[in-house]
Amino acid sequence: MPILQIKENHSKKISLVTILTGLVSLSVVLTVTILLISFYQSKKQALINTTLTLNHTSAINMSHTIDSLIKSMRSSLQYSASIFSNMHVMNGEEIYAKLELIRRTNNYFNSVTVVDETGLVRSVSPESIGTTGTFMTTEAAKTALALKKPYISVPYTKANSKRLSLLISEPIFDKDGIYRGFIGGTIYLQEDNILHSIFGSNPTDELGSSFYIVGSNGHLLFHRDTSRIGEDISVNPAVRKLIQGKSGYEQIVNLRGQMVLAAYVKVPENDWGVAVVSPISVVYEQLDRDIQSALLYMLPPFLLLMLVVIGLAHKVARPFVSLADLVSKVGREEVELSEGKQHWNREAELLTRALRYAYTNIKKQTDQLAHDARTDPLTGLTNRRTLEETMHQWIEEQTSFSIIMMDLDRFKSINDTYGHQSGDEVLKHFAKIISSSLRPDDVSCRVGGEEFVVLVSHARADEAYQVAERIRHTLETSTNPIGQPLTVSQGIAHYPSHSDSAEELMHMADEALYKAKRSGRNQTVIADVV
Ligand code: GH3
Ligand code: MG
Ligand code: MG
Repeated sequence: MPILQIKENHSKKISLVTILTGLVSLSVVLTVTILLISFYQSKKQALINTTLTLNHTSAINMSHTIDSLIKSMRSSLQYSASIFSNMHVMNGEEIYAKLELIRRTNNYFNSVTVVDETGLVRSVSPESIGTTGTFMTTEAAKTALALKKPYISVPYTKANSKRLSLLISEPIFDKDGIYRGFIGGTIYLQEDNILHSIFGSNPTDELGSSFYIVGSNGHLLFHRDTSRIGEDISVNPAVRKLIQGKSGYEQIVNLRGQMVLAAYVKVPENDWGVAVVSPISVVYEQLDRDIQSALLYMLPPFLLLMLVVIGLAHKVARPFVSLADLVSKVGREEVELSEGKQHWNREAELLTRALRYAYTNIKKQTDQLAHDARTDPLTGLTNRRTLEETMHQWIEEQTSFSIIMMDLDRFKSINDTYGHQSGDEVLKHFAKIISSSLRPDDVSCRVGGEEFVVLVSHARADEAYQVAERIRHTLETSTNPIGQPLTVSQGIAHYPSHSDSAEELMHMADEALYKAKRSGRNQTVIADVV
């Protein structure tokens, strides 16, 4: 039976578990995100620094290699120059033989040329070049001749062969110190040459880094893309620094607009520069791989943590959830508030206790009200409402029963003689007799002033008659509050033999009672079967 109705409005209400779980998930996701971002940032900087440092180390090593190479080239040419100090008295064949020997033994140059002080090519190796006996034409050779000093040219293109070349020369002086010309080694920059054989034909490592060598004027002397050799890249920020004589490493934007990590180092022996360059994409690719593996390592413990904390959130919320469930049930069904269950959470425990206390009080009051609504206050018997409910229920269940309608005889005169108070005592006395004469399943009611009704379950009219007579006899013979004999008249009707309508049964029992009164009272009459 509903004892307390709580207006329900569950729409758009977020449950405690959802809030706690949401908060926990949010904080875990935020933590992972913050960790990943900071990991990403620090890792990125570390990778950039590492790449720059590695590139710088490679550039320094290469610069040393080139430096040694140039020194070796120079000393080789110096030695050769000393061999040709008496060139003016040597014949062409002799010169060629020596030249061929020099070129083949050191393998530094694609070709070696001996030019006399007039600019006449005395000999060239390999012979196939075919310039022997002609006057040299290139600006580089003219400069070398005029300088009378060791010389390294900038890249130039020979008019006849269209070859991009580089000339390294040493002056030839005779034993009297008279200038006799020069010996020049030529490197064909875009062909198989000493630089290619030292630094490889495809100088790109697994990281995608590449390197190049630039001359003093910012023209490419060596590049993995041979078609670019000779190109003027002096506007490249790294090359600009090299031209200014600086070495270092930094993040720059190259001529193609790409962000690269460049290290650049001057070659001490000449004005060349070496640059080792890695595209920034190398860093990002590595970063992607690192982030993926970091995620792989981080996710399982974080998922575990999330599960644990969600479990805890459920545990924290559970007492409140069960309290809320309990409160939502109040008024709809019988609520069980078990005493023994203690909550580990203080607030939940206090709330449960308060709820239990309030619920018990309310239940007591409503039970009392329900009892009062069904009971006659004077005699403690049930009232007419219970009578009608029971009759309808039994008729519905088709339980056979008899109804005994009772009316105390001449009660008005008892009241008049002994007073209303004594009249009430008589009513209570009679109620006790009725109650003590019935079985537990039977129902006894006070329906009016001195009128009572008894429902005798599973009793035919004649059986009810026995019950009624026993009551009447007990009343008549018992000691009562007024000390004068009391009598009662009774009428009986039976369900279903007399009628199957509650109202009709009452009416018939009432008729029988009336008949008993008319026949002289203090007797029991069974209704006629119609
Ligand atoms: P009869 O034998 O014909 O039934 O006579 P009666 O006097 O019992 O009949 P009547 O119905 O005329 O009188 C009933 C009286 O019962 C009237 C009233 O004074 C009295 N009475 C009704 N209710 C109460 C009550 O609660 N307490 C007391 N003391 N008397 C009551
Ligand atoms: Mg009466
Ligand atoms: Mg009466």
